[in-house]
Amino acid sequence: MELRLIIIGSSAAIPAHHRNLSGQVLQTPSSSYLIDCGEGTQFGLTDAKVRLSKIDHIFISHLHGDHIFGLFGLLSSASMQGRTKELSVFAPPGLKLLIDAFTETKSMYLNFELNIVEVDTTVYRQIFEDEHFRMYSIPLKHRIPTTGYKFVEKQKKVNIHKEAIAKYQLSFDQIKSLKSGNNANLEDGRTICSEDVCFHKYKPRSYVYVSDCVFSPEIVRFIQGVDVLFHEATYMNEEKELAQTRFHSTALQAALIAKMAGAGRLILGHFSSRYTDLQPLLDEARSVFPDASLGTDQSVFLF
Ligand SMILES: [Zn+2]
Repeated sequence: MELRLIIIGSSAAIPAHHRNLSGQVLQTPSSSYLIDCGEGTQFGLTDAKVRLSKIDHIFISHLHGDHIFGLFGLLSSASMQGRTKELSVFAPPGLKLLIDAFTETKSMYLNFELNIVEVDTTVYRQIFEDEHFRMYSIPLKHRIPTTGYKFVEKQKKVNIHKEAIAKYQLSFDQIKSLKSGNNANLEDGRTICSEDVCFHKYKPRSYVYVSDCVFSPEIVRFIQGVDVLFHEATYMNEEKELAQTRFHSTALQAALIAKMAGAGRLILGHFSSRYTDLQPLLDEARSVFPDASLGTDQSVFLF
């Protein structure tokens, strides 16, 4: 299964230098998961050829406007396009109040069920699972309650070594049992353990979205060994005091987190509008973590 991450918006606070506000889509061949939904997300989705009707789950990191002001328009559009199936939005407490304000004032009408799931931003825990992933919340330190998200691919069915089938003359039922994780008892009294003869075709992949947060080494334990890490990098490290005051991170700090976590690769985003040229942020991150990339608008990462 190919996993594809499309960056929809990469700007912090205000749209600038042809960079839209926070939003990205994690895609499998059959599903699209929208993560944050800043203003301009609908245009970005159209440019990326992501159909609104394919999105059934939206993950909001926090309620700052640059991460959610696109949501109300997007929900309205879905309704106007005739959506009837349920849509789930995961978000810190407070989103329901905002949605209710729009619907009660008749600014927005939704003809589908909107399932708002409040995420506790103080704990790391599984919040959802479907056929593809288990999703976890990651507590982040920002000016308001904020959560990161971890997507862990579900382990697909295991295979059994052909040599083992021949060696132990395994029957169909024994193979089935071993593939389900159980042991198999042979006629001569020996017991074959599942883990000795079965294997996974590949390691399940994982993706972590670390949204707005101050440099937080304490999150490393939740994201250890992640394949692809998105980490906000609002500033260069020369602005680290400012970053600290505003509860944001620098490109260098994002790279340090990636290094500490043993991440496979790092994607930087949420760039301050003060930077027209992002190359210095990338260079700074690569000085600590070489496999870093800029997650600019419409970049696509396959993994
Ligand atoms: Zn924020």
